[in-house]
Amino acid sequence: MRVLVLGGTTEARQLYAALEQRTDLFAVTVSLAGATRAPVLPALDVRIGGFGGVDGLRAWLVAHHVEAVIDATHPFAVQMSNHAVAACAQAHVKLLRVQRPGWTPVVGDAWTRVPDMQAAADALGITPRRVLLTVGRKDLLPFHHAGPHDWLLRCVDAPDPALLPAGTRLLLARGPFDEAGEEALLRRERIDVIVTKNSGGTATQAKLAAARRLGLGVIMVDRPPVAPAETVADATAAMMWLESLSE
Ligand code: NAP
Repeated sequence: MRVLVLGGTTEARQLYAALEQRTDLFAVTVSLAGATRAPVLPALDVRIGGFGGVDGLRAWLVAHHVEAVIDATHPFAVQMSNHAVAACAQAHVKLLRVQRPGWTPVVGDAWTRVPDMQAAADALGITPRRVLLTVGRKDLLPFHHAGPHDWLLRCVDAPDPALLPAGTRLLLARGPFDEAGEEALLRRERIDVIVTKNSGGTATQAKLAAARRLGLGVIMVDRPPVAPAETVADATAAMMWLESLSE
């Protein structure tokens, strides 16, 4: 069975590992956006770069006789997920989304939930604060016009310097992060508040526990709305879905 996996997440990498063991059943192509400079590549066929919108993806599915698509992109990669829903419907290809559950607050958390990055910037207010930004490197524009804060941006790859709010310090690091390390970072940098997307998963969750322990606020950007699709929470369930299709 010909399968296309839209990747870029921990769950996608877990799925590749399982699919590498089932080449008897599945002929898989993994698709990456090309956003990460040194992506972890599977031992499967890999293509890199956009398809050219819904039309391009539909044409690719038809040309490669794809029978099933697994959308294992990030919960904030909604354009790709919406394109997958539309293109699969048009090409009559089965689609499954793999999406890890979002984080939910527990006792002791001091979260401010906001719908988008502009609201996150607004929620910081105008009193100067020391802010740890963990929102990726693309959605930084709203923070340019935020209050006179001290910014520490942690991300995997360095952003275009023009995108950075004035005076931003960069910390290049790739998770997973542990709680002790996160607490040490927050103390060393005298962080007052963390801004994060509600990515979910365990790789970057430790900052939330560290913030709780230190009594720090977290501005939590909720997941954007996305077109509905059949969804499972992890790679194991995605494998079961694929195996049931191939029977
Ligand atoms: P996006 O805004 O939803 O997608 C923008 C465009 O990038 C899509 O329309 C598509 O171009 C192309 N694209 C995205 N994912 C692709 C894939 N797996 N294969 C081929 N083309 C892809 O996505 P994004 O937020 O830029 O994320 C890009 C990638 O980084 C995704 O694979 C995602 O899983 C990963 N990622 C994103 C985040 C995040 O916070 N957004 C975090 C971690 C990892 P065309 O329209 O030309 O097809």
